[in-house]
Amino acid sequence: MLKGKVAIVTGGTRGIGLATVEKFLENHAAVALAGSRQETANKAVAQLRERYPDAQIMGIAPDLSDTAAVEAAFQQVKEAFGHLDILVNNAGISQRDSLYNYDPADFEKIINLNVNAVFRCTQSAAKIMKEQGGGVILNTSSMVSLYGQPAGCGYPASKFAVNGLTKSLARELGKDNIRVNAVAPGVIRTDMVAALPEEMVQRIASTIPLGRMGEPEDIANAFLFLASDMASYITGAVLSVDGATIS
Ligand code: NAD
Repeated sequence: MLKGKVAIVTGGTRGIGLATVEKFLENHAAVALAGSRQETANKAVAQLRERYPDAQIMGIAPDLSDTAAVEAAFQQVKEAFGHLDILVNNAGISQRDSLYNYDPADFEKIINLNVNAVFRCTQSAAKIMKEQGGGVILNTSSMVSLYGQPAGCGYPASKFAVNGLTKSLARELGKDNIRVNAVAPGVIRTDMVAALPEEMVQRIASTIPLGRMGEPEDIANAFLFLASDMASYITGAVLSVDGATIS
């Protein structure tokens, strides 16, 4: 479904990002996975090369808080693979302190990665995509972007902002043939969920109408569809992939 396409996936070293990288490779895209450190990116690339020996894959690790570093890394990908067609803004962190205990520095940290880095990466990618005649930007939102959560207000605030970027940029960039969509995962079995108290995970899982937590591949499948030409008339959408969860 992605033959001839080039993708960058941030937070591509594990969890949802890694599953998305694998899905894109299986569908014949060339993929650059971005990690928070070059060492972890290289390690993930080495493991993927064993599984996908014919795949075109590279690892990058720009500081996502540094516009010049992001621009340079995206140019490096364009030079290595010839173009850039898909960006998946997936790197993200979570935090669940109550308001009274919330360290303002933690609030800023979440906004810096979950929102500011999405803006920064999108801007760098869109400049390349506009020049080459189009592309696809995909954002990892969250089910909590629809109704908040009872603690850790920074995380849902960041994902509401991701939805705002998605819908606004879809309207702004349509004329440049750049589609912008988001996937809003429910509770997905990754390190982020492993860090939650087991009691909370069980409580959430027991309320899921489809009777199970999501797997990273469930989200990767949604990204694959939205990245592909099958979604050529879809832009500005926030697609829930959550088994109809309401937390
Ligand atoms: P994860 O913790 O397994 O992966 C997070 C990724 O982000 C890692 O690759 C990590 O290296 C990267 N990252 C973290 N800090 C970074 C930084 N400062 N700079 C660059 N990269 C950094 O988490 P995950 O569950 O796979 O989450 C991926 C995305 O999915 C996040 O945006 C998250 O908010 C979202 N999400 C996850 C769930 C879930 O239940 N797991 C639900 C809804 C949304």
